[in-house]
Amino acid sequence: MKSLEDIYRDAGAYLEGHFLLSSGKHSKFYLQSAKVLENPKTANLLAEKLSQMIKKSGIKVDTVCSPALGGILAGYELARALDARFIFTERVDKVMTLRRGFEVKKNENILICEDIITTGGSALEAAKVVEADGANIVAFAALANRGICKRQDAKTEKKSQCKLPDDIPFFALDDFTFEIYDSDNCPLCLDGTIAYKPGSRGN
Ligand code: ZN
Repeated sequence: MKSLEDIYRDAGAYLEGHFLLSSGKHSKFYLQSAKVLENPKTANLLAEKLSQMIKKSGIKVDTVCSPALGGILAGYELARALDARFIFTERVDKVMTLRRGFEVKKNENILICEDIITTGGSALEAAKVVEADGANIVAFAALANRGICKRQDAKTEKKSQCKLPDDIPFFALDDFTFEIYDSDNCPLCLDGTIAYKPGSRGN
């Protein structure tokens, strides 16, 4: 099988420029997972691979929950591969919420799935929403990890910006570790270009 990086590159999903990430940080690269997941066969293949790692760990997942919008496709395919239910949280006036009639049972085992985990901020917000309704968060998962958090079995170090808890496993297929910068300390900004949010200019 092709490497995850090759899958992203071949799909035109590995963008180069000057990007404003949802975490507020800047980066020279951006991973546009939607371009990878627009092919359902690829989405299925990646979710199957991810599900095998989770099944092997012995963790029981009742439900996969993704923060909208980025995590929905990856989470839905992962739920299919795990034979689990799928729900998603979304922001209303910036506050993460569960809507659309989705309900969480007390002690339901929930895995939070994103397409990419950078700091894990949105994933953690989604986790808090379902936890407040009585769910157990059993794992976090993403197609790729940006190298700030530490995925299961990786030899990388967890960085201080990672918001995912230490005591819950985090599964991802691979690490994409490229530099990200604070907005007030970004070499690309110093070069005079303006960071833009991917998706806002037809990307
Ligand atoms: Zn910048």
